[in-house]
Amino acid sequence: RVIEALAGLAAVCIARIHFEEEAQIARVAAESERLRTALLDSISHELRTPLATIMGAITGMIESAHVLSSEDQRELLSTVRDGAMRMNRLVTNLLGMVRLESGMLRLNKHWCDISDMIGVALGEVQDALQHRRVHVSLPDNLPAIYVDDVLLEQVLVNLLSNAIKYSPDGSEIYISAKCDDNVVFIEVRDTGIGIRPEEAERIFEKFYRSDTTRQIPGTGLGLAICKGIVDAHGGNIRAQPAKTGGTIFTIQLPADDAEHKENTGL
Ligand code: ATP
Ligand code: MG
Repeated sequence: RVIEALAGLAAVCIARIHFEEEAQIARVAAESERLRTALLDSISHELRTPLATIMGAITGMIESAHVLSSEDQRELLSTVRDGAMRMNRLVTNLLGMVRLESGMLRLNKHWCDISDMIGVALGEVQDALQHRRVHVSLPDNLPAIYVDDVLLEQVLVNLLSNAIKYSPDGSEIYISAKCDDNVVFIEVRDTGIGIRPEEAERIFEKFYRSDTTRQIPGTGLGLAICKGIVDAHGGNIRAQPAKTGGTIFTIQLPADDAEHKENTGL
């Protein structure tokens, strides 16, 4: 009887473990389904909003072509361009994410000038700056670095567009770089709403968006891509709240590349 009772107890335990496992699997499936839906919602919203703006502006131009002043036309055309640029950034980020996740990210490295890369990135966000002032401070002896400039420009564009998006118009953005012990540091600091110290790492996770910025459009992909690209260069990127308010992002990159040295025998 004792053996039967023990066997019964064991059977109950096994059944309970089994049901708990099933419940756990169902929970995980529901969670990933919820994530997928949230992701699709946010991406389709992000794609549709600029598309709706573009279509609205173009329809306006077609239907009222005869009454529009050249000033109005210019304004509508710049609305179209802004919408297209916003879509372009999202599509670039989505493709970048796919490339990173599928292990298809190939670095096309050259010797690059840091100030040129900063210049290109600034050019891309120029129209979104409005009245924000950008201060760039670079030392004269900054070395060239052996990196994929197109990808690093994408990193800088993402950091700058965040600095713009999460700071009020008229505020200041500071970009600086320095080289210490064969390591190059590039810093982008804004004076905007800032991040909480406990979020400093999480914001680099894919699709993570802070509660404080929910009302500002975004997909939460930008920083995950920045991290993927910087990591692929053997560097690192981190964020911290600035003491004076706002956020500091620091990219750290090896100034010379061991692989390149080996190949060229330098
Ligand atoms: P997108 O994919 O369009 O870039 P996003 O800006 O929301 O969307 P990330 O760039 O990855 O995505 O940023 C993730 C989150 O980190 C943001 O939603 C925001 O909460 C926070 N964040 C990023 N940069 C800043 C910043 N400069 N100041 C304050 N918060 C920031
Ligand atoms: Mg962003």
